[in-house]
Amino acid sequence: MMLLLNVIIIFLIMYIILPVIANIVIRKFLKRKYVRKGYVCLTFDDGPSSQSTLKILSLLKAYNSKATFFVLGSHIEKHPEIVNRILKDGHEIGEHGYQHLHPWKSSPWKYAIDLIKSHKTLKNLNIHDQVLHFRPPFGKINLLTLLYVVFSGKKFAYWDIDPKDYKNKSPKQIANEIFTQSPQGSIILLHDGRTNSNNSADITVETLKLILPVFDKEQLHLDSMVNAIANNQ
Ligand SMILES: [Zn+2]
Repeated sequence: MMLLLNVIIIFLIMYIILPVIANIVIRKFLKRKYVRKGYVCLTFDDGPSSQSTLKILSLLKAYNSKATFFVLGSHIEKHPEIVNRILKDGHEIGEHGYQHLHPWKSSPWKYAIDLIKSHKTLKNLNIHDQVLHFRPPFGKINLLTLLYVVFSGKKFAYWDIDPKDYKNKSPKQIANEIFTQSPQGSIILLHDGRTNSNNSADITVETLKLILPVFDKEQLHLDSMVNAIANNQ
């Protein structure tokens, strides 16, 4: 019984607690001071989706803006043509896992397979070398995430502003949330795909229609993380 308890404690320390401490340290180095002055990074997670990604790309094009899309391997398999379109339009693709598993609620075995499958889908599209950022699902990491990011030479990608477009909010509420948090120099978390909510991804599209004209008027420069982060820290 004691042995089992020790094993569980060691597992928790190795798999979750130590990575969480590493996570806190890493996040400290990825604060908004690294985003160039006058820049804003829009990031879109959990896509690509047939419902909203193409609409988002059209809007970004209309405002001559670039963004970063953190795609899921399982969604890439369904819409590889949308991933190619994202890249063709000059945006950045970031990695976000295969199935959006929670790093703390999944077994190491299941989570390892998820990372391998995510890696494979990017490799199959021949874009793996272009993918420089990894955003862990739910913003949480475990030991495997840490090892994967370190050994694949990627960087963790977090955010400063989460207006919670995945909750039951109106586009106006989401836009106001962004404006009240002074977006200049920030990384904004939005979603072009849905994994665990009934809220329509079109909410994000409608939100963009509200925020893009304002950013344009304020002459903020919207760019992908790889371009907007000074010295690409
Ligand atoms: Zn996500």
